Amino acid sequence: MAKVRNWQLGREMDYPYEENRPGRQVSMLFDLNKCIACQSCTMACKTTWTAGKGQETIFWNNVESKPYGFYPLAWDVKVLALLGEQAQPWSGNKYNGTTIFEDLGMNQRIKGYLPDEMDYAHPNLGEDECLKILDGEGDYIKGPTHKNWGFFFPRICNHCTFPGCLAACPRKAIYKRQEDGIVLIDASRCRGYRECVAACPYKKSFYNDTTRTGEKCISCYPKVEAGLMTQCVTQCIGKIRLFGFKSADYDKITSKQVRENNPIDFLVHVRKIALPIYPQFGTEPNNMYLPPVHVNPDFLAQVFGPGVENSIKQYRNAGKDKELLAALLLFGTTERICDTFKLEGNETVGYDPQGKEIIRVPLTEPVYIRQVKNLKTGAFLTNNS
Ligand code: SF4
Ligand code: SF4
Repeated sequence: MAKVRNWQLGREMDYPYEENRPGRQVSMLFDLNKCIACQSCTMACKTTWTAGKGQETIFWNNVESKPYGFYPLAWDVKVLALLGEQAQPWSGNKYNGTTIFEDLGMNQRIKGYLPDEMDYAHPNLGEDECLKILDGEGDYIKGPTHKNWGFFFPRICNHCTFPGCLAACPRKAIYKRQEDGIVLIDASRCRGYRECVAACPYKKSFYNDTTRTGEKCISCYPKVEAGLMTQCVTQCIGKIRLFGFKSADYDKITSKQVRENNPIDFLVHVRKIALPIYPQFGTEPNNMYLPPVHVNPDFLAQVFGPGVENSIKQYRNAGKDKELLAALLLFGTTERICDTFKLEGNETVGYDPQGKEIIRVPLTEPVYIRQVKNLKTGAFLTNNS
């Protein structure tokens, strides 16, 4: 095992390979306050990439409802149990528990589990249970009661800095691209051992029993290579997503080198409002979430780590924080990847890597007051004519 630096844990950790960060890293941000579970993202991905035989229950993008919705069934609860830490052993920003790569048994390379076939059969089983107080009668899931909260949780592969899938593959069929950090499976090398499926703590590596190979999200790399965001981002009805590149080597660079005018770096590294999903798993996931402000803080802390309070405080104040608002209003506004952004008066402006303007969004929408009556005839107007 090598020692690698994981900034999300605030410490070094064990990993089977030496640290090898790409030059830049794809990253997707999700504003969980805005997701409406319309599943447009799921269908955009499915119709683009996974409509073939053997992919009937495979969703590279899924949206589950928390706390009781899962895909596959109980995935995060099972991984937390493997780590043996339902409690949160954080001291400040340092994680004191073990990751999936640490405290291993004899001949164990990674802590993981292989879901049963039926765990994928009903995506988001239990989705309705979070929307009211559990009282037992007629509920599918029997468990402790809780207050009335829930949220929708879109998930794709995190194109992790220390991927569990890559570390587990005995064929070395999985690789992380140096140019953008996208993690891919070379199907010609894969022999379908399913080690990646067991090792990915987010259960985002899948087994296709028709092709008998592993498969996973490819971050729409043909689009990304053309400077475009992925299908799930551009089809998102709620405009909850932003896709781009963030500095890959955050921990080793000084704060001066963080690109404050890059929207992803700004929200992740400067404001620290976008947080990783289950950082304690240890893979340094590169998708980041703005937590839902109405949800139980203990639950959020378990999912997104110690930065939740700071994130929610900033989000609640975003209406008065023009710089933050400028970055948040870029979500869902263009298919082109924004390299930089700038607040200009009452507008936020996004630029491509050549510095060309690609999007301009007002911070406050203009208001038009329509006439109630036609001034000549006195008739009430039901439209703007
Ligand atoms: S989320 Fe899973 S499949 Fe994706 S890179 Fe990380 S470990 Fe691999
Ligand atoms: S398309 Fe957007 S709003 Fe709809 S479920 Fe997906 S992430 Fe949520």
